[in-house]
Amino acid sequence: DIDVLASSEDAEKVMDHFSTLPTVVDVTGKGHTKTSVRLKGGIAVDLRVVSPEQYPYALHHFTGSKEHNTKMRHIAKSMGLKMNEYGLFSDEGNENIPCSSEEDLFKALGMTYIPPELREDMGEIEAALENKLPKLVESKDMLGIFHFHSHYSDGSNSIAELAEEVKRQGYRYMGMADHSRSAYYARGLKEEDILRQIEEIDELNSKYKDFHIFKGIESDILTDGSLDYSNDFLKNLDFVIASVHSQFRMDKESMTKRISTAMDNPHTTMLGHITGRLLLSRDGYEVDLDKILGKAAQKGTVLEINANPHRLDLDWRWVKKAKEMGIRIMINPDAHSLSEIAYTSFGIAMARKGWCEKKDVLNCLDIDAIKKFLHN
Ligand SMILES: [Zn+2]
Ligand SMILES: [Zn+2]
Repeated sequence: DIDVLASSEDAEKVMDHFSTLPTVVDVTGKGHTKTSVRLKGGIAVDLRVVSPEQYPYALHHFTGSKEHNTKMRHIAKSMGLKMNEYGLFSDEGNENIPCSSEEDLFKALGMTYIPPELREDMGEIEAALENKLPKLVESKDMLGIFHFHSHYSDGSNSIAELAEEVKRQGYRYMGMADHSRSAYYARGLKEEDILRQIEEIDELNSKYKDFHIFKGIESDILTDGSLDYSNDFLKNLDFVIASVHSQFRMDKESMTKRISTAMDNPHTTMLGHITGRLLLSRDGYEVDLDKILGKAAQKGTVLEINANPHRLDLDWRWVKKAKEMGIRIMINPDAHSLSEIAYTSFGIAMARKGWCEKKDVLNCLDIDAIKKFLHN
C-alpha cells in the first residue's frame, strides 16, 4: 500500500478532501487522524494527519525500516532521551526537544541528515554519526542512458525518434541495444540488420552537435556462455550488454559458469538484468552473485541496474555490495518506447538505495570520458 503523511491543524478537513478525490472508490477506514481508502486501480492508501509540530518526528518514524527506527531509539536512549513518532523527549521531564525538520531531529541526536533511501540500519547511522555518509547520485548528475530497443527489434519507435526524445530530456548521449539474433521472438537482429543500423546511427551522429548515439547490442548469452555473434563482428560496435533471455532452468553452478564465461569475452561491456527476476511474477534464476560480483570487480565488467519497474535488477542490496567492491554501475531504462525512458528514475532510486555516488555510476561520465571508457 501507499502511506501518505500530512501536517495540518485541521485533520478532518484534509481527510474529507482526500476521501472524496475522484480516484478514490472506497473508504475502508476512518479515525481522528487516519483515513484508509482504495483507489480505482485497487491500490490501498492510508493518509495520516499530524500537527505541524509532530510532523518531523512522524515523517522520520514512517519513513525508515523497523531496524533503523530501533537503532535510532537506542541512540536517543544512550543520550538520556526518548524518541517516538510524537516527538523527542528528555527522559525525566518528558519535555519535548523542538525540531522543525528531520534535519533538526538528526542534529539533536548528533548526526548528519540521513536520506530516506538509506534508512535500513545497514551502516547509515554509524556513518551519519561520523559525518561519513555518501553524497548520493541525483538525476541531474546523469548525462546519458543506455539500453534502448527500436523498431529494428521489439521496440515501438525509430532510432531517430528515441534519440530526439532522449536529447530533449537533456541527456548528452545514449546507447542503442536492440535484441540479438537468437532472440527470434523479439525479432533479434541479424548481422546485416546491425550493419544497416550502424549506417543509420552514423548518419544521425553526423548531424548532431551536442549529442551522440553509441552503437551497441543486447546480446543473448547462449547456454555455453558465448555471445550471439563472432568476436570479429562485435568489433563493429561500441559496447555489448550481455543478457540471459532463455534456458533459465539451469542449476546454480552451470548458470554461474555461463554468465562468467560471457564476462571473459573482451567485447562484453556490461551484464543486463543479472538475475532475470520479474517482481511479483518470476523469481530470478539460480546464480552465485558473490562469484559474479567478484569476477566483475576483477575484470572491470559493468553491472546494469535495469530500471524497468518489473525488474529493478540488480537488487539494491547487491548494488551496495558492488559499490563497496569498486564495480561500476550503469542505470539503464531498457526502454522499448518513448514513455519507458522515464523508467530511468526508478533506476536512480535503486542506485541511491545502494549508496551509489556520482563516481560509481557510469551514466555520470561526460561524453569524452564515456567514449574513452568504451574503447579501452
Ligand atoms: Zn533483456
Ligand atoms: Zn533489453
